[in-house]
Amino acid sequence: MKKFKDLGLSDEILSILKAQRISEPTPIQQESISLIMDGKDVIAEAQTGTGKTLAFLLPMFEKMSPHVDAIQGLIVTPTRELAIQITEEAIKLKEAKDLNILAAYGGKDIGGQLKKLKGNIHLIIATPGRLLDHLKRGTINLSKLKILVLDEADQMLLMGFKNEVETIIKETSKNRQTLCFSATISSDVKKLAYRYTNDPKIVVIQKEEVTLKNIEQYLIETTDRRKQDDLCRILDETNPFMAIIFCRTKRRVDDLDMALHRRGYNCEKLHSDILQSKRERIMKSFRNCDIQYLIATDVAARGLDITGVTHIYNYDIPENSEAYIHRIGRTGRAGGKGYAYLFVDPKDKKTLELIENEIKLKITRKIPIEVREES
Ligand code: AMP
Repeated sequence: MKKFKDLGLSDEILSILKAQRISEPTPIQQESISLIMDGKDVIAEAQTGTGKTLAFLLPMFEKMSPHVDAIQGLIVTPTRELAIQITEEAIKLKEAKDLNILAAYGGKDIGGQLKKLKGNIHLIIATPGRLLDHLKRGTINLSKLKILVLDEADQMLLMGFKNEVETIIKETSKNRQTLCFSATISSDVKKLAYRYTNDPKIVVIQKEEVTLKNIEQYLIETTDRRKQDDLCRILDETNPFMAIIFCRTKRRVDDLDMALHRRGYNCEKLHSDILQSKRERIMKSFRNCDIQYLIATDVAARGLDITGVTHIYNYDIPENSEAYIHRIGRTGRAGGKGYAYLFVDPKDKKTLELIENEIKLKITRKIPIEVREES
């Protein structure tokens, strides 16, 4: 197994990793860091929780210079939450190299971003819409870009950002190095990635290694009418340290949030209609463990890296196995144990069969204690 010092990283970066107690590279880091350091374009299939952010941030930091007055690195990512999270990881590396970093995402005060852009920015972490806005205003010049990262490319396509992403890529220097990270390499991702990379190296990490191994999965057979009561029974029975509850729609998030508040649970909701400043506040409280339950939609929770999430409750069944793996992948991270509960109504039978087939597991059926006692 390769060590961080075998990957061509500088002493400054190595000592930051040491200080953060990050001692061994994850598989995606072992595979991709040397390739990126060698200047290769990379298409990597890796989900969040695999250490993919550092897999691109570390070599990017090595390749950028604080003494060059130009935007040298650009990371495009689908959601504000991901942009914030990547920015937080990048800021931790500033001690090794004092690069100026700008996070540009919708909802954040554009005036402040514009002011910062008048200075010398080296690395931008952005969502597609806001970045395009800056490009149109002429406030961002990507002609000297050295490295472009398309993060969560599959999600960007799913969210309809294809045209935005292509317009952005066309504004960048032809001499750039391009890295495309995606949880799955669908044919659409492949098309996009191959069009804009040059002789790319492909990196694929076995999904099982990082996702389901540490997670105990349970299934609760219920009905839409009984679901809320069954959820509460399971919540009381499991009393999680920190949990995420997934719903299918924003409306269902709102309804469940209201119901759980009424029942006295310590919860907050997260979806894209909630004001950005509020979303940031909620995420902060959740990270600080001031909130026990976060109720969220898939998009809002995608990629969130929150350490300490012990339980995932799939209040509504996810669309497919990929979404299921994404959701439950928020727990059981970095070697910790995780628990995932899936609530299914009889009408979910077909989706459940597909999920179980694809994850090659018949999920253990569980009956809430009170129901067992009643019957
Ligand atoms: P990511 O897949 O980028 O969302 O990373 C998930 C989490 O793993 C983040 O909190 C990282 O700080 C952490 N992490 C990244 N690389 C390592 C590593 N080599 N060892 C331990 N933790 C890591």
